[in-house]
Amino acid sequence: MSYPTKPRVLIPRAEIDDVVTRLAAEISRDYRDKNLLMLGILKGAFVFMADLVRRLDFPLEVEFIRLSSYSSGQQTQGSVKVVQGLRRNLKGRHVLIVEDIVDTGITLSFLIDYLKKKKASSVRLCALTDKVSRRRVPVEIDYKGLTVPDKFLVGYGLDFNEQYRNLPDICVLED
Ligand code: 5GP
Ligand code: MG
Repeated sequence: MSYPTKPRVLIPRAEIDDVVTRLAAEISRDYRDKNLLMLGILKGAFVFMADLVRRLDFPLEVEFIRLSSYSSGQQTQGSVKVVQGLRRNLKGRHVLIVEDIVDTGITLSFLIDYLKKKKASSVRLCALTDKVSRRRVPVEIDYKGLTVPDKFLVGYGLDFNEQYRNLPDICVLED
């Protein structure tokens, strides 16, 4: 089977690899003795999370949360909901959110507020990509991979209609 729309490589896997290695070094420096709780946002962050945690050589826990942003097609709308929440008590924990891409910032600013209400000791954000030109709500990215152009990206966990998550490179769809 072949894809209806052909993906064109924007960020090759070797470059992603280097970025993940750099982010892992930054995270290691800050969290080695903090009993870190890494919180991935499903589904998009699952590939990034898997690569990132395998570069960290200290004790940590992994959790996932699923959010819905009432997205229709490629646009994120204004309102975010927790679809699959946390079964873990965050009180006193150092939480690092792991996200594939920050676009408008609506999802992340919602989640950061939500986690702070759960009395985490600290909440920081690691994002592999930043579509900074699209920002509508300010979000501080503590560990940032790459700035990306305002194009719809797929691969390395990112989907279009649930397809393409398995591509090893970050790609754009050709028309
Ligand atoms: P935000 O709330 O920042 O607008 O949206 C963030 C979420 O929108 C991301 O976690 C991701 O699920 C989705 N998103 C934003 N830009 C892209 C993109 O270029 N490609 C894909 N596949 N999803 C995107
Ligand atoms: Mg996402």
